[in-house]
Amino acid sequence: MVIKVYNTLTHKMEVFEPFNPPIIRLYVCGPTVYDYTHVGHARTYVAFDAIKRFLKLKGFETVHAQNITDIDDKIIDRANKEGVSWRDIAEIYTNDYLEALEKLRIEVDFSPKATQHVDEMIDFISKLIEAGFAYESHGSVYFNVDKFLEYGKLSRRTKGEEWRQEEQFMREKRKPYDFVLWKKAKPGEPYWESPWGPGRPGWHIECSVMSCFYLGTKIDIHGGGTDLIFPHHENEIAQSEARYGVKPWVKYWLHTGFLTIKGEKMSKSLGNIIPLKDVFKEHKPEVLRLMLVLTHYRSTIDFSYELLEQYERIYDRLRSCVDLLIRIAHKENLNFKISNQDLKIAERIDEFLLGFIKSMEDDFNGAKAAPYLHDLISISYTSIIPSGKAELALRALNAFKRMNQVLAVLDDVFHTKGFEREFVDKLVKIVIDVRHMHRARGDYEVADKIRELLASLGIKVMDSKDGSTWSYV
Ligand code: AMP
Ligand code: ZN
Repeated sequence: MVIKVYNTLTHKMEVFEPFNPPIIRLYVCGPTVYDYTHVGHARTYVAFDAIKRFLKLKGFETVHAQNITDIDDKIIDRANKEGVSWRDIAEIYTNDYLEALEKLRIEVDFSPKATQHVDEMIDFISKLIEAGFAYESHGSVYFNVDKFLEYGKLSRRTKGEEWRQEEQFMREKRKPYDFVLWKKAKPGEPYWESPWGPGRPGWHIECSVMSCFYLGTKIDIHGGGTDLIFPHHENEIAQSEARYGVKPWVKYWLHTGFLTIKGEKMSKSLGNIIPLKDVFKEHKPEVLRLMLVLTHYRSTIDFSYELLEQYERIYDRLRSCVDLLIRIAHKENLNFKISNQDLKIAERIDEFLLGFIKSMEDDFNGAKAAPYLHDLISISYTSIIPSGKAELALRALNAFKRMNQVLAVLDDVFHTKGFEREFVDKLVKIVIDVRHMHRARGDYEVADKIRELLASLGIKVMDSKDGSTWSYV
C-alpha cells in the first residue's frame, strides 16, 4: 500500500516517494535551550518519532537528525538575568531536553549542537557571498532575498508582508526582508572569529548546515511546528537551494499542529509552559506519548490534565490487556485446533491491525488509527482472555506488537520475562493473603488500605464469602 503525506510545500496530499528508497533522511528542528522542555515540544518530537517508527515498520531505513540551538539571543538574555554563563544555561536545558527525549522513547540518531558547527557555517556563508547570494554589512552578513527568485514558495508570502523593519537592521540591510546569516557581536557578547570580524551565526543558518552535514543535500522529510514555516523554514530553503543548487533540497515539508493550553499556543515566550519534568512527577511518559501518537500530527491539541487522565485509563487498560494475553500465551496448551468461532476472532484481529496500518499510511493519521487499537483491546477482553486460548492470545499479541512499533509504550511489558511475571504473581498472592488475615480479624481499615494500594498498581481485588480473588484491571 502506498503512503500518502500532506506536503506543506505543495499544499497537497502526495504519494510518498523518497529520494533514495529504502533510506529516508529526516531532519526535525529541535529546541533553543534556554528553558525547560515542555508539553508543546513533546507534541512535535513525539509526532516525528512516531512517523519515523511507522516508516521503519513499512520497511524503510531511517536516519534522523534533530538539532539543539545552544547559542541565541534568548540564551544570552537568560544568562545575563541570572548572572551565569550562557554555556551553563545551554547545558542545563540541553540535559533536560535529552532526558525528556529518553523518557518519551524518542530515538534520534544525531543531536548536533549549533556551537559544534560554527566553522561549517562560516564556510557556508562565505560560499553564499562568493555566489552573490549574501553580502557583508557593518560586520554582519545578510542573505540577499531578491537574488533567490523562489523566495516565499513554502509560506506563500510575498515580499510586501510583515517584514521586520527594525531601525538598526535597516541601516545595515539592503532590503527590509533580507535576513541575517552572521551577527556582529555586541560588546560583552559571546563570539567566534570570522572573515567579517567577531560574531555568531544567525538562527536559520544552523539548520541548513547541520542537516547537510548529517544527512546530505537531499532530504526526504524536514519537520517542525507550524510556527517554523515562516520565516525559519522559508529561509532555510533559500539558503540551502542557493548554496547547493539542488531543487528541491527537501522533498516533503511536514508541520505539526500546535499544542495549546486554554486555546493559546504553549510557548516559552508566552510564559504558559508546563515543563515535562513536572508532568512526569505524576504521570508516566508513556501516557503522554500515547495521547500524542493517537492524535493526528497536524491537528491542534488543547492540553489539560483531564485529557491526560483519559489516556491514563486507556494506557492502564491496554497494558493490563497485553499482560493478561502474555500470561495466556505462555500457558502450555497450544493445540492449534481453531474452531470456526476462533477463526472469526482471528480475522477480526487481522482487520484491526490492517486498519491501524492503513490509517497511518494516510498521512500518519494516529487519530484514525486509534479506534482499531481500541477494538483490539475490546475483543481481547470480551472474547480472547475469557476463552483462555493461547492461539488467539498469540495472534492478538502479534497485532499489539506491530502497533507498538509505532506507539512505543509497551516495550517493558513485552520484555518482562516469564519468571519475573511468576514472581510478581507470587508476591501479589502473599499481599492478598495478608490482607485476608486482616479482614478475618475485623481490621477493615488496613484491609481497605491494602486494596487501595493494589488498585493504584492496576491490581483489582474482589472479595466474596469464599475469600478474595484478584486480576489486573
Ligand atoms: P523552540 O524551542 O520554541 O525553538 O521549539 C522547538 C520545536 O518545538 C520546534 O519544532 C517548534 O515548532 C516545536 N514547538 C514549540 N512549541 C510548540 C507547541 N506549543 N506545539 C507544537 N510544537 C511546538
Ligand atoms: Zn531549524
